[in-house]
Amino acid sequence: MGKSNVYWMDAHSESTETSLVSKMLTVFDAAELDDLIEPNDIVAIKIHCGEWNNTAYLRPVYARAVADRVKELGGRPFVCDTTTSTYSAWGSRSSELDIMLTAERNGFSSATLGCPFICADGFIGTSDVRIDLPEGYLLKEAYVAQAIAAADTLITLTHFKGHGMGVIGGALKNLGIGGQSKRGKLNVHMGGHPTYGLGAAATFHPEAFKGKANTPDWEILEDCCPFDLWHINDNDEIEWDREKCTNCLGCPGIMGSRGILDVPAVNFDAADVAIADAALAVEKAVGRGKIGYINMALDVSPKCDCANHADIPIVPHLGVFASKDPVAIDMACVDAARRSVGMPGSATEMMEAHHSGDRKFEAAAATFHGQSEVATINTGHANGLGSRDYELIEVSPAAPEKYRFPYDRRPSRQRFKERFIQSPPFPYERHDGHGFDRKGEVDLEAMKVHYEDATNGHRVTEDVEALAPADDD
Ligand code: SF4
Repeated sequence: MGKSNVYWMDAHSESTETSLVSKMLTVFDAAELDDLIEPNDIVAIKIHCGEWNNTAYLRPVYARAVADRVKELGGRPFVCDTTTSTYSAWGSRSSELDIMLTAERNGFSSATLGCPFICADGFIGTSDVRIDLPEGYLLKEAYVAQAIAAADTLITLTHFKGHGMGVIGGALKNLGIGGQSKRGKLNVHMGGHPTYGLGAAATFHPEAFKGKANTPDWEILEDCCPFDLWHINDNDEIEWDREKCTNCLGCPGIMGSRGILDVPAVNFDAADVAIADAALAVEKAVGRGKIGYINMALDVSPKCDCANHADIPIVPHLGVFASKDPVAIDMACVDAARRSVGMPGSATEMMEAHHSGDRKFEAAAATFHGQSEVATINTGHANGLGSRDYELIEVSPAAPEKYRFPYDRRPSRQRFKERFIQSPPFPYERHDGHGFDRKGEVDLEAMKVHYEDATNGHRVTEDVEALAPADDD
């Protein structure tokens, strides 16, 4: 496989055509993603709507702008995400009902998007299409969310960031996890796998449980598993039916923090590889050449948007990327993060990986030392999904007219002259034509003085004389 093109614009913005929304649409066109959409195509726009209380997920305006562009091209867009596996005892996107409520709270609804928001894998997460993967590196089948598999075209709109399990949360993860049904996620997580699954590879320490009497919240140890695999028996001992573990990841946080369970690093390494195979399954379901990728490398938080919080970004905004190759676009983003310096005060600085050239995601995002930020990328290269060799093409801004307010393109006089005559916003008849009641002149310079300068370097709040406004009445 040869080099793939990745189109890129930096994150600087000082005008309407350099707005990040405009830049996203500019790289969309530069990468010829518009060519993927035929009139009447049903177009899925796959986003991550963010967990309850996450704050780093992409603002809904980006999905809205893509949906508007799809409509301009004659397509029928819908924006979608999928249910989680459940990930935690208190997940907020574990069913269709949950995800619709969380998406609305985070700003994703038909009112904001101009098209429906859909839970792509059904009410519980079992609406899917099984895909054979003879070419998979690890997976030999995958389960793609039904609404994504049914789409004519897919635009994968990704918030590029870190991920505790995947190390990077890019385009490959958006499809290899986010494009899978709940059943598909359990497959990718290695649920039931005889070597890499949690049931096979985790270390169980039943002795770490000190009895119900010494564990005031002991009920959560049973309640965290939706498959009912943890029990405290009549002898006041904890038991785990590990053979049936599906790797839903509902329990590791709770059990791990109490020393009851050690999650094995190999489980995460295997899942990182499986993500690329599952992403390949999405390409097979939708059709080769019918998927476009946009990576918004902004607010590059160390953990995924499926976390119920978002930490300080680990690098400054890296820019806006578009491609038809998910492997190349993720590689370009990882390289950009590696070239960048780390963000002061972020996890990269805490891990002393804030220098240009440091592997930021391995240091600041991975759960285990030894996980690789290129494992999923390398697997996507190996299974034929895409190429990690790419050409990064910097795109120039488009003409500003293209990105002006589209609902009324007339300049102000044409839009407001008659309305301002009817309902004047400025009272010309008052105060000799000056309109409003204000002082004629004040000491503006006095308000610019810093405390430190006015008090010889001391923040002395009592000594405010130097800051008093001039009496000019
Ligand atoms: S035991 Fe397995 S199935 Fe049950 S919560 Fe833990 S990871 Fe999920």
